[in-house]
Amino acid sequence: MTDIRLKCDCGKVQGVAKNITPSNGNRVVCFCDSCQDFANHLANPEATLDEFGGTEIFQTSQSQVVIEQGAEHLRALKLQPKGLVRWYTGCCRTPIANTMNSKMPFVGVIHRFMDNAEQRETDLGPVRAYVQAQHALKTPTYPGCSDKFPLGITFRIIGKMLSWKIRGMHKPSAFFADDGRAIVKPEVLEQSQK
Ligand SMILES: [Zn+2]
Ligand SMILES: [Zn+2]
Repeated sequence: MTDIRLKCDCGKVQGVAKNITPSNGNRVVCFCDSCQDFANHLANPEATLDEFGGTEIFQTSQSQVVIEQGAEHLRALKLQPKGLVRWYTGCCRTPIANTMNSKMPFVGVIHRFMDNAEQRETDLGPVRAYVQAQHALKTPTYPGCSDKFPLGITFRIIGKMLSWKIRGMHKPSAFFADDGRAIVKPEVLEQSQK
């Protein structure tokens, strides 16, 4: 198991993803237009997106992600009123992670926020799925790209969610208070702001 250091571009927001192994989460690349809109709304999208518009994400549980300093710089937005809560830093506009809500243990940590570029393959293992390739900017050359979410990875995510939920790993959360509210109110982006 590895503790992965988390750090925004300017270093004001730092934390750790605890007890990570390649098998206790899901490393995926998402090409969806919402992930692209999120990256493009923030600073240096080219540091988040690959040449096909893909975002690398490691899905783990909320209890494994701890913000140790700079939590006052956390910001949140939604691209659709019922969509994911997408977290970033106000200090330097680095994307951090995607969450659902306080009850769902899932958090998808964006690789750019991980300070482990050199040993990422060892820490996270290989990418398990390339998803939503119908939104890619051009046809990705990765093997095994899928339009939408293939069943294998969907079942894997659901299985992880259930096991995290049973073990209470939606708490403690760096993103939601005990009453279930996001620690900062997510801004819902208008079409013109995307
Ligand atoms: Zn920063
Ligand atoms: Zn996406």
